[in-house]
Amino acid sequence: METRLFNGPPSPEEFQRQLQEFMRQHLAGAVPNKPDLASATEAPDEPATDKDFSFDKKPREVKAYLDRFVIKQEEAKKVLSVALCDHYHYVRLAREGHGQPNYAKQNVILLGPTGVGKTYLIRNAADLIGVPFVKADATKFSETGYVGADVEDLVRELVRRADNDIERAQYGIIYIDEIDKIAAAPNAAGRDVSGRGVQTNLLKLMEETEVPARSPNDISGQIQAMMDLTQRGKKAPASINTRHILFIVSGAFDGLEKIVKKRLREASIGFAVPATRSVEDASALDHSQTRDFIEYGFEPEFIGRLPVRVICQPLNVEDLFIILKTSEGSIIRQYEQTFAAYGIEVLFKDDGLRRIAELAGEESTGARGLMTVCERVFRDFKFELPSTPVRRFVVTRELVDNPAGELQKLLAEHQKEERAVARQLVQDFAARFGDNFKLNIRFTEAAADRLVAQALEQSVPVRDLCHARFKDYQFGLKLIAQNTGQQEFVIDEDAVEAPDKALSDWVVKSYRPA
Ligand code: ADP
Repeated sequence: METRLFNGPPSPEEFQRQLQEFMRQHLAGAVPNKPDLASATEAPDEPATDKDFSFDKKPREVKAYLDRFVIKQEEAKKVLSVALCDHYHYVRLAREGHGQPNYAKQNVILLGPTGVGKTYLIRNAADLIGVPFVKADATKFSETGYVGADVEDLVRELVRRADNDIERAQYGIIYIDEIDKIAAAPNAAGRDVSGRGVQTNLLKLMEETEVPARSPNDISGQIQAMMDLTQRGKKAPASINTRHILFIVSGAFDGLEKIVKKRLREASIGFAVPATRSVEDASALDHSQTRDFIEYGFEPEFIGRLPVRVICQPLNVEDLFIILKTSEGSIIRQYEQTFAAYGIEVLFKDDGLRRIAELAGEESTGARGLMTVCERVFRDFKFELPSTPVRRFVVTRELVDNPAGELQKLLAEHQKEERAVARQLVQDFAARFGDNFKLNIRFTEAAADRLVAQALEQSVPVRDLCHARFKDYQFGLKLIAQNTGQQEFVIDEDAVEAPDKALSDWVVKSYRPA
């Protein structure tokens, strides 16, 4: 190749020309056989059909479904159910050609602390409606898309989640958490200065825009597009329209309640309302208005595109207990399954669940604390039990408070039972020996214990161990019986340790006159 290649990087046009030239030379005739974004969009003119999307739910039905999974958050479930029904009925009408031109999309802003079910709500709703769902953190995005992720990547990710079905992706749900982190209050230190830029980019998506199915930063995607162009004369891949994508943003909005309270206070002064009208922190958010969000650092246009405001409440210990006990997605089901895979049954008692809830409450991470606590409590049970014969256990308050101790107890109890059975096996060996050889043998307590301990240690059946140890005893003892008339023999610890020596000593002795 020419040396001018090394005189700095080529211009984009030159680069594209060289790539196309390269592909013409090396890849002529090679047809990519993998279905991909480009081929999925080959027929962009095909009219939308209802066969792959239909929606006929009512808000109550949606809420009833959410109730199965999400505990508490009654108001949030209600408001969300209405917003989702509004949105997807509108989408259906639009697909049928009856959409109102001025319809305002019911994008949602969800407020609430971490771990109270915000994501869980949306994920379950998306499942019910049957639309693809993507979640991302706003903190990931940078204004340019070069440093961090590009907001448009969200839309492309939606396509991926819809198995490259662009049509379906266009009715999906994009959920962006930590939206409060891109607030750009001028006087708030430490806030991302590019927040405003990210808001602008998101705003474009929330309104209506065409997102190219291939990212400009996706080199292999670009090469694929060029290959398509070179080989098949196909046009650049289609784009995704965001008109019907539902946007849901959420955040904890620390500090917003202060802004709301301040406004309420000031209003009460203006109207000479008695100072008794004060609002608790927790309920201050219920009174939040658009201007509070603007003061918090959001562009008016941005917050204006989020007409549905949903507030999720913090969860108390009782809520956490009910989540464990009744939610269809309760983490204890997961534990039941994990143990069941090893043939182990777990029974969760209410006092055990309540203790887990109490400890989770101390974590202050909402229902996420439940996972943290359960992981800590059951870690050793998961590790140890599958390799033991223990097949069931009960989760009580004591177990949650002292998992290591209760695990030891469980194993010790089990060993005790095992020992008892093993000792019976030793006696059974003695009985059969008597039946078979007409010679009575009896093990001392200590001898039987020693045999049991050794069998457990070596993981061999007790009977096999006895047979191996005393295989010559039928002959030796018979000899002694002939010499001395002795009919009953006591086997002690020494005989267990060195059976052959003990037997030969006895035999020798039997030849000596008394
Ligand atoms: P966030 O509010 O931070 O989005 P998530 O929805 O991700 O929290 O909650 C984490 C997990 O905790 C969920 O996957 C779910 O298992 C459980 N969870 C949280 N809130 C609830 C709730 N209200 N009801 C039932 N489960 C919940």
